[in-house]
Amino acid sequence: MQASATPASPAPPFTPRRIQAGSWRVTALSDGYFRLDGGAMWGVVPKNLWATLTPPWPDNTIRMALRPFLAERGVHKVVIEVGVGQRWEEKWQRIYGLEPTTTLEQSLRACGVDPREITHVVASHCHWDHIGAAVVERGGELAPLFPNARHFAPKIEIAMAKKPGHARKGSYRAEDIEPIERAGLLSAYEGEFEVLPGLVAHQLGGHSDGVSVIVLDGDSSDPAAPGAIFWADVVPTTHHIQPPYIMAYDIDVVRSFEQRSAWLERAVERRWTGLFYHDETRAFGRIERDGKRYKLVEIEGAA
Ligand SMILES: [Zn+2]
Repeated sequence: MQASATPASPAPPFTPRRIQAGSWRVTALSDGYFRLDGGAMWGVVPKNLWATLTPPWPDNTIRMALRPFLAERGVHKVVIEVGVGQRWEEKWQRIYGLEPTTTLEQSLRACGVDPREITHVVASHCHWDHIGAAVVERGGELAPLFPNARHFAPKIEIAMAKKPGHARKGSYRAEDIEPIERAGLLSAYEGEFEVLPGLVAHQLGGHSDGVSVIVLDGDSSDPAAPGAIFWADVVPTTHHIQPPYIMAYDIDVVRSFEQRSAWLERAVERRWTGLFYHDETRAFGRIERDGKRYKLVEIEGAA
């Protein structure tokens, strides 16, 4: 096997980190790490700029987290985004530098939660690095990891995943969705959609046709527990918080710029805690204005 790179540093071990977002207790989970080309992650941003923010490995990739979140309130246990999952042949594990330092299931169990207790799963979009972990292989059969959960995904993203032969096919796999649908556990959403009171998906598009952000208690007036926003791939890391820092993967750059500009400003105004899926080290962070730019404010005790 040809090693694609020597590790820049060992991937950090999983330790659950937690914040309060309004009425929701939010825990950062982990489905390990993977690596994508730094140039693709940074689009038109010059390398001499992005390399200082996310130093590349010798093969020009950057390591990124696969970081689902658990939102708990009363009887509801909601998994927001699930991760890349285990169903990867060795070839693809190598190409994408998959590092299964832990799995979604292991990180949940480390928090004392059994997969059967999960009541809802919410996906921002259906790219394989975001929904692969919803389906596991058991005795040669594909089955939902969360057999008692209602799974929500954007309608157009479900259609993309199930439709073969289109230009965006490389980002989707039908087998990430179909076992959930066969089990009768799949619900499609569109536009602005309330999964539960105080847990609302907003479909934005830009990165993909239906990519959505998930807002938790966005109207919270508790200064100790402001609302939160799960950024998905709209703002993939805490380094991508300037509106023009758009990934080369985004299918509609103009829409991305408009949506990112509007929602970054909204997050600043409402003092929302950002939940970051792909940031290598930070799960949480708040965004503030810094003149014409934005800056990240660390969340105390959360890292
Ligand atoms: Zn992604």
